[in-house]
Amino acid sequence: MRVFNFAAGPAMLPSPVLDQAKRELEDWQHLGMSVMELSHRSKAFMAVAKAAETDLRDLLKIPINYKVLFLQGGASLQFSAIPLNLARAGAPLAYVNTGAWSQKAIKEANRYNPVTVVADSASTNFLDVPPEAPWPLPLDTSYVHYTPNETIGGLEFPYVPLTGDVPLVADMSSTLLSRPIDVNRFGLIYAGAQKNIGPAGLTLVIVREDLLAATRPELPATMSYAAQSAEGSMLNTPPTFGWYLAGLVFQWLKSEGGLEVIGKRNNAKAQRLYEYIDGSGYYTAPVAKRGRSWMNVPFRLADPSLEATFASEAAAAGLANLEGHRSVGGMRASIYNAMPIAGVDALIEFMRDFAARYG
Ligand SMILES: *Cc1c(COP(=O)(O)O)cnc(C)c1O
Repeated sequence: MRVFNFAAGPAMLPSPVLDQAKRELEDWQHLGMSVMELSHRSKAFMAVAKAAETDLRDLLKIPINYKVLFLQGGASLQFSAIPLNLARAGAPLAYVNTGAWSQKAIKEANRYNPVTVVADSASTNFLDVPPEAPWPLPLDTSYVHYTPNETIGGLEFPYVPLTGDVPLVADMSSTLLSRPIDVNRFGLIYAGAQKNIGPAGLTLVIVREDLLAATRPELPATMSYAAQSAEGSMLNTPPTFGWYLAGLVFQWLKSEGGLEVIGKRNNAKAQRLYEYIDGSGYYTAPVAKRGRSWMNVPFRLADPSLEATFASEAAAAGLANLEGHRSVGGMRASIYNAMPIAGVDALIEFMRDFAARYG
C-alpha cells in the first residue's frame, strides 16, 4: 500500500507517473526493451529527451536565449560548476546565506573564488529572510547566488532579489516547478531532480546563453555548460531513465493544468497546514510568516520529548518521514507537487488527534 510520504528528498512522485513507468518498464513503445536499455543516441531516446525539454520549456515559459541542460552530479556538483563556469579565476562572487544549503554552496565556491556574503539570515537563526533591499555587491562580482527555498530550515524567499545587471543564480532544488516563475529574472537556475522533478541522479540547469562563454581551461568537460550545451547534454551518457521519468512528470504537470494551477494548489496546501499549526495551541511553526516555505513545513511539538513518538505513530498511520533534518530536529512535512491535498488533510487530522491525546 502506498503511504503519504513527507520526505524532503528523494520525495514522492505522482502516482500516474509511476503507473505509466510501470506499464512501460519492460516494453517501451513496443520496442521490446525498457527505456533504460535504449542507447541515449537512438532516435527513440532522442525523441524522449527532446519532448521532455519542450514540455519543460512550455511549463516554465523558458525564453529561447536560455539553454536547458540535463546533467548528473546533483545540485552539489553545481556548487562547484557554477563558479568554474561563470567566474574568471580570482573574480569576486556574491552569495546570500539563508541556511544549510547556502552554506554548502558558499563553502564550495570559496575553493575557487573569493566569496562575499552580501545578505545573511544568521542573526535570525535562519528563521527569517534578509530584507528586500538592494544588497551591496562587491565590485565586478560575476554573479549573485541565493537559495530561494532552504529545504532543511523551511525558509523561503517571498521575493526575487534585484541585482541589476549582475546575473542572479538560484538553487531551486526544492522549488522548481512548484509555481510559475519569470525565468528572465535569472542568469542561471539549477535543481537536483529528487525533490520536485523526478528521481535522484538528474540535475537540471537552465542558463542564459551569454553566460556560457567565460569558462576556464581547467574546467572538466562534463561540467562545462558550453560543452554540454553544444552536445545537447550528451557529451557522455546522460541519466536516461531520470530524463525519461522527469519527462513523464512534465506531462503530468501539463495535464493537471500547468504551473498556475499547481502553484495555487501548493499555496493552498501550505496555508492549510500553517493555519492549523498556528491555531493548534500545541504545535508551533518557527519560521517568520513572510519566509515560510510552501514546500517544506518545519514544526515543533509543545513537548519535544514526544517527537519520536509522533514520528512513529504517524508512520504507523501511513504518514511517513515526518522527522526534521538530523541537523535541526523537530518535525518537517515536505509537501511537494506530488503530495495531494488529501495527504495534507490526513496529516492535520493525525496532528489534531495526537495533540488531543498527549496535549
Ligand atoms: C537537496 C538540496 C541540495 C542537494 O542536492 P543533491 O542533489 O543531493 O546534491 C542542494 N540545494 C538544495 C536547496 C536542496 O534542497
